[in-house]
Amino acid sequence: TQIPDQRVTLIGNTASIATQTHGGRAKCLQRLVRLNLPVPRTVALSFDTVHALATGALPDIAKIFRFFDGDPLLCVRPSSMDPDWGGPGAILNIGMNDVRHMHLCQSLGKEAATALYLRFIQAYAVHVARLDPDIFDTLDETAPDVLADALTIYEDEAEEGFPQDRERQLSEVLRSMARAWEGTTARLLRQAKGAPVDAGLGLVVQAMALGLGTGECGSGVLQLVNSDTGLPQITGRYLSQSQGRDALQGGAKSVFLERDPRGPSLEELAPEAFADLKAHAALMRKKLRAEMQIEFTIENGNVHILDGVRVRRSSRAAVRIAVSLAQDGIITPQEAVMRVDPHALSELLHRQVAEDAPRDRIATGIAASPGAATGRIVFSAADAQASAARSEPCILVRRETTPEDVRGMHAAIGVLTERGGITSHAAVIGRGLGLPCVVGAADLRFNLSRKTLTTRDGRVFRDGDTITVDGTNGEVLAGSPATVEAALDDSFQTLMAWADAERDIGIRANADTPADAQTARNFAAQGIGLCRTEHMFFEADRLTVMREMIFAESSEDRRAALDLLLPMQRADFTELFRIMQGLPVCIRLFDPPLHEFLPADRAGQRDLAEALDLPVSDVTRRVETLGEYNPMLGMRGVRLGVTVPEIYDMQARAIFEATIDGSRDGDPVVPEIMIPLVSARREVELVKGRIDAVATAVRNERGRDFTYRLGVMVETPRACLRAEEIAQHAHFLSFGTNDLTQMTYGLSRDDAGRFMSDYVRQGVFAEDPFHVLDTEGVGELLRIGAERGRAGRPAVTLSVCGEHGGNPESIAFCRAAGIDYVSCSPFRVPVARLAAAQLAI
Ligand code: PEP
Ligand code: MG
Repeated sequence: TQIPDQRVTLIGNTASIATQTHGGRAKCLQRLVRLNLPVPRTVALSFDTVHALATGALPDIAKIFRFFDGDPLLCVRPSSMDPDWGGPGAILNIGMNDVRHMHLCQSLGKEAATALYLRFIQAYAVHVARLDPDIFDTLDETAPDVLADALTIYEDEAEEGFPQDRERQLSEVLRSMARAWEGTTARLLRQAKGAPVDAGLGLVVQAMALGLGTGECGSGVLQLVNSDTGLPQITGRYLSQSQGRDALQGGAKSVFLERDPRGPSLEELAPEAFADLKAHAALMRKKLRAEMQIEFTIENGNVHILDGVRVRRSSRAAVRIAVSLAQDGIITPQEAVMRVDPHALSELLHRQVAEDAPRDRIATGIAASPGAATGRIVFSAADAQASAARSEPCILVRRETTPEDVRGMHAAIGVLTERGGITSHAAVIGRGLGLPCVVGAADLRFNLSRKTLTTRDGRVFRDGDTITVDGTNGEVLAGSPATVEAALDDSFQTLMAWADAERDIGIRANADTPADAQTARNFAAQGIGLCRTEHMFFEADRLTVMREMIFAESSEDRRAALDLLLPMQRADFTELFRIMQGLPVCIRLFDPPLHEFLPADRAGQRDLAEALDLPVSDVTRRVETLGEYNPMLGMRGVRLGVTVPEIYDMQARAIFEATIDGSRDGDPVVPEIMIPLVSARREVELVKGRIDAVATAVRNERGRDFTYRLGVMVETPRACLRAEEIAQHAHFLSFGTNDLTQMTYGLSRDDAGRFMSDYVRQGVFAEDPFHVLDTEGVGELLRIGAERGRAGRPAVTLSVCGEHGGNPESIAFCRAAGIDYVSCSPFRVPVARLAAAQLAI
């Protein structure tokens, strides 16, 4: 047994108190004692001691009592490594018995003494003797002989008198708390919260500061900041004549701490104690270098500090607290950067369902794009547009989305689909637009013709009903729960600037439209890493021309349609270059299979036949011929570029003309052009030959020179393996980890949602590999591709532009693999900047 200082004593086999051996509470109390704060005498039992206790080896109880000589009553509180892991509740007033009750009646008064004893009897009965809590239901706490009644009830149920010996009381309390921790339910609960299998429990035995008795007595909690906003504000509750966390019980007549127009306050009841508490809290903030919630007791006007835990905080409060601690010189800016969880940042960037709002959950799916959106249900893109025209916010509900739905997605404020995974069409577009989106909500029955959604338990939601899509949690809620706005305040900007000063991997954004590009700039992306040009053809007026191009019988007809698309594309690129102001813009040539642009249903085909002045049968036949068994492995990407080269020709021309226009009044624009879905060197050679020819033609026509960089998307396993020869024709290689994951696993990214949760639940995959990069398999291919690419061309720029580019764990892998930059959805850029900074600190 060691006694490192006066009040925190260690009983166990290690010499000092650490969170890893005694738990957070013990460690914190030791620090508070060292700060000379008024902490009651405390003994800390280590994890080892408590573990031994559970199997019967008691510590030296007599010694504990010698240490508490003169302190009549004790309490025992749990001290685990992480307070979130739970643990047995504290047991107060150990040492109460008939004799002590008699003494306390004289010193504190009968009411207080009886309350202390009753509380202990009830806690002991339930948590130690394991009696049914209901047995005290009949107890009338106002009856004059309530104590005798409680003791009789105890004796009847336990078949023995209430233990009077305080050494026995303490031993039993310690043992029962130790055993409670080792129980199966407790273990499963904490493991669900991330605790390791062998997580230990420490216990602290503390002299009771009573909170009941004469003079101002009571207990409460206090903190110096608001947990939701992180702004300075003294918050907490206090209840006179109370113990433990009574002040926080619903229905308790607790009071405010600071003077408050809404009611009485501790500041008025006990101004000196209040001033002391504030001073103690400020000292704790400074010395423990964190915002703490203090648990305190006031005994006859004197303050006792029982515990301090880091304040519970929302994501926005976490940012503000970290920044203000650094601005006050308490922590360094680097520490502030380390203290904010990058995953939580995305919550700040979108409106969210308020934490305490009641949630009427009607379905759960995949959280595809964060944020909360409340609106009326619509079942088609046309209805979404009509709703937007009436300024009525709407949620677009579809089985899955296709390019035709994009206009509806622009009009909607949230999206819900029955099918799809994290990289499905709805998910990718949703993230790009910053639109809250839940996909794969398979527990809802979608009936698009009847325009209904039916829940598992039979509730029916119709066209026009209001629902909320919570894309942060992947939940669909009925009605309109309270929400909180996005918070891009000064603290956020400051933290981001500190992060950028540390970061050593570049962050670009995947941006397809001027709006995306603007968002990317607002979030300080260092360029566009992926512009998916096909998304530019989804708008209604372009879709028709696009379809004309697809229906063209000859190369001339095709060119004629492309001539109509050319000025539109040129305007798109000119605008992107303007917004990005000299930052690199990487444009990917057309990628998807052409049939994605054709209507799948009869009605759509009829409309198209009318628009193109063709018989419906021609349209239907054409749609059928373009159909493929495996479209994602079929005629798409560079394969289209090789077989229908006019499309890439048009895009290259649009890019070069925009380059000349964009370079007119500013620094020269150097566009980056990227070829998708490459698997062979020859594909690159063929496309490069044509693009070079277009560049020469544009130079000659315009009499202006420009340069450009040509790169290859590495998203097939073969491209990774052959990266050395491919890199010889490429200034840069960009790993498209969405397709690379799909092809490495042989797992359709559009269908994986159907069974992904089963796979994760059964431990086949640790995580959804479309969400977190599979470092073992896909990662190995990526590493091989990076090494071979560098061998083929040492100066080659390497990047990752799949969805993984915005995932903190995946960014760590990319950085280690020597990737120069990652590119992700604009709204994930801040998350990526912070995650990357944390890797470099
Ligand atoms: C990829 O495959 O990783 C990629 C970025 O391209 P897309 O998602 O458009 O297929
Ligand atoms: Mg791809």
